Amino acid sequence: MDCGNIKKIDLIDSVPIGKNVRSTVGTYSKVLDELRREFSKLSDEYKTADFSYNIGKLRCEICNGTGSVSMDVQFLPDVEMTCPDCDGSRYNSDIEKTRFNGLSLADIMSLTVDEALEELFELKKVTSKLQKLSDLGLGYLTLGEATPSLSGGEAQRLKLASEIGKSQKNSVFIFDEPTIGLHPLDVKVLIDVFDNLIDRGATVIVIEHDLDLIANADYIIDIGIDDDNYGGEILASGSLEDIINTPNSLTGKYLAEKELL
Ligand SMILES: [Zn+2]
Repeated sequence: MDCGNIKKIDLIDSVPIGKNVRSTVGTYSKVLDELRREFSKLSDEYKTADFSYNIGKLRCEICNGTGSVSMDVQFLPDVEMTCPDCDGSRYNSDIEKTRFNGLSLADIMSLTVDEALEELFELKKVTSKLQKLSDLGLGYLTLGEATPSLSGGEAQRLKLASEIGKSQKNSVFIFDEPTIGLHPLDVKVLIDVFDNLIDRGATVIVIEHDLDLIANADYIIDIGIDDDNYGGEILASGSLEDIINTPNSLTGKYLAEKELL
C-alpha cells in the first residue's frame, strides 16, 4: 500500500492507561522526573533517584510506594485502603526535609495541575510540561492521581500530552469517540487541541457522533446507522454544507437544526 508521505500513525483510544497503580498523572506526563531533578538540587542528602516513590529511599515502606495497602479480611475479598502510614502520599516522613517554596514533593503531588502551575512558576521545565496538561483541559487533575482511575476521555488527552507542541508533519492521528463523557465546554477545548495538531502539520481523523465536533471537520464522511437508514453505507461526504444538503442524511438533518459551537 502506498502511504504517500505518512511517517507516523497514532491511534488515540480511550483504553485506560495501564493497570499499574504506580502510574500517576505526574509520572506519565514526566512532570515528576523534572521535579525529582529539582528536588535533588535542593538536598545535600538525597539524589534524584531517592525522590522516586517506586525505588527511592524516600518511598513509604509500609505500602511500598503505592499509597494503599490491602487488608486481608477473613472470608471476604481483600479490601484496598489508603496507607495509614503515608496517608496515600507514597513517601515516608523524610520527604518533608526538602522543600521548594515551603512545599515538599509529597505536597506538590497532592496539588492539581493548575495549582502546581501557580506554585512552581519559577521552574520552567516543570511548568512547560504542566502547561501542556492544562492546555489539554486536564488542569483539574491531581498530579498524584493514579492513571488507571482516569476516565476514557481523560486518558485519551493525557496520551496526547507528549505530542503537544511538536512538529506533526507527516503524522496521522485517529481518535475513537473522544468526546464521550465530555461537557460541551470540554468539547471546545478538544477542538482547540485538534486545531493545534493540524496547525503543526498533522492529519486528524475522528470517529464521532458529537455534532459540534462533526461540524468543525474540514471533511465529513456520513455513514448510515442501521438497516432502515443505509446501515454501513456512505450516505454523504464532503463539507458541512454537503452533508446538510443530502436529503437522506440524518446527521445532515440534525446539523441543520443545531446551533453549533
Ligand atoms: Zn504508605
